[in-house]
Amino acid sequence: MAICRTLELRARQQSDYRDQNPKPGWAGISGWDLFGIAGREKLAHDFDNLAKAGPLLIRSPLTNFDSRSLRPALFLDRDGTVNVEVHYLSQPEQLELLPTVAKTISAVNALGIAVVIVTNQAGIARGYFPEHRLLAIHERLQRMLSEQNARIDRIYFCPHHPTAGQGPYKAVCECRKPLSGMLRQAASELGIDLNRSLMVGDRESDLQAGAGAGCQTALVTTGYGLETSVALDRNSLSLIGVYPTVGEAVAAWLNPASNQVASP
Ligand SMILES: [Mg+2]
Ligand SMILES: [Zn+2]
Repeated sequence: MAICRTLELRARQQSDYRDQNPKPGWAGISGWDLFGIAGREKLAHDFDNLAKAGPLLIRSPLTNFDSRSLRPALFLDRDGTVNVEVHYLSQPEQLELLPTVAKTISAVNALGIAVVIVTNQAGIARGYFPEHRLLAIHERLQRMLSEQNARIDRIYFCPHHPTAGQGPYKAVCECRKPLSGMLRQAASELGIDLNRSLMVGDRESDLQAGAGAGCQTALVTTGYGLETSVALDRNSLSLIGVYPTVGEAVAAWLNPASNQVASP
């Protein structure tokens, strides 16, 4: 599967850069453990250092987990779920976080639950923007979140489209939602227990990808969520409910006893 190879390459390049260019801010920080070792107060400072040095390190905090005990993840769709839906968002400047999302992610980070974005980006296949632009968009996203003490542990994207575009991006793949390839890859790479995880999104394809991977799912009414909710089969898709925000979906997930399904 052609998933996330650019992010992997980028993370590796950055690691090499760091090894070859040691700086005071990185003293004592090894491998991918930057955030885990640095701790919360140092996080913003380290982000600053990384931002000055080059691209933000996207991969990092999950290397301390015990591989014998898998942990749950909060899977998030990107557009319309984390940030305001813009038709084929193609510039970092177009990013606008939805209200309370950063606060929610920060709280989930503190619980030791992995936070993973899985996003279809067929705009790449269609030639609307190149892959390096997407990386710049995700750097800004991480930076905006870091300002509120929140982080995404890893971002997976599908650049493909089955019929549009040219070259290697025009492909029938396993990563494009509603298929579950990105979630399954995250599970194997990050040690995630899919059956204890939640997928939140604003389209039915998000929920299908989550349910297909064995996760519970929640629909948010941001983005395309309201129109999605109208035609949604609430008895399938392992749906825990429909919520106005990611925060309310996560609260219901973590505390099922207080689960209330919001009416859109
Ligand atoms: Mg969406
Ligand atoms: Zn794909």
